[in-house]
Amino acid sequence: MRILVLGGTTEASALARRLAGDARFSLTLSLAGRTAAPQSHPVATRIGGFGGAEGLARWVRAHGIDAIVDATHPFAARISANAVEAAQLCGVPIASVVRAPWQPREGDDWICIDGFDEGASAIGKNPRRVLLTIGRQEVAAFRAAPQHLYIVRTIDPPAAADLPPRVEVIRRRGPFSLDGEIALLRAHGIDCVITKNAGGEATYAKIAAARELGLPVIMISRPHKPARLALDSVDAACAWLERQRNAHCGPRSDRGV
Ligand code: NAP
Repeated sequence: MRILVLGGTTEASALARRLAGDARFSLTLSLAGRTAAPQSHPVATRIGGFGGAEGLARWVRAHGIDAIVDATHPFAARISANAVEAAQLCGVPIASVVRAPWQPREGDDWICIDGFDEGASAIGKNPRRVLLTIGRQEVAAFRAAPQHLYIVRTIDPPAAADLPPRVEVIRRRGPFSLDGEIALLRAHGIDCVITKNAGGEATYAKIAAARELGLPVIMISRPHKPARLALDSVDAACAWLERQRNAHCGPRSDRGV
């Protein structure tokens, strides 16, 4: 059974590892190409956009894909909309792995906001020292609040033109430890953390570190991300694929053969 996994996340990589040696499934993992040196995976991997929903539908048909798993990042809403539409166009089943968002715990001081522009104004008028961990694509929004000093942590460096004037870029790939995050916040005298509500374990330590140090967190809420069937784990995605396979390769009489 041919599966397209839309990836770029821990869950997509875990799914690829789980099914790599399973002869019943032939997986292709698709990455957007947002990082210059993506981690390698033990399955066929393609990189780059498809050209919208219709381009994705063409690719699905051309490669004889039998099912799609959308395991993209919670903030990657466009590819999910395209995937739902392409699945519909092709009549192919699709399910999404939806990571639970982080929830505030006792001791957290969160300011929850809806977009990156709002994030820049939420820091306030007075100059602050901000840890900005939103990836590189939306950093430009913070040029609107140039009075702050930003420590921008990304895997690849943002474009120079996107950076606010007072900035230091730290290039690092998660996962991150609690001790490491506390040390980072202290070393840079950070007094405010800005993050997307990505959820998951790999980058949660900064939230726990902010709580430990009594720092506010500006938490950017998730966009609407279309999903036909939302699954909450890689295990659930494997079980769903098993069911699709049983339906796909069921007894010959079931299939009218
Ligand atoms: P997006 O807005 O959902 O997608 C934009 C376009 O990128 C899509 O229309 C598609 O191009 C292509 N694309 C996205 N994911 C793809 C995949 N897995 N395989 C092939 N093509 C893909 O997503 P984004 O621009 O990448 O990111 C939006 C937000 O998500 C940002 O905040 C970013 O930091 C966050 N994020 C994304 C990723 C990721 O791997 N994409 C990882 C971590 C965080 P076509 O229309 O041409 O097919």
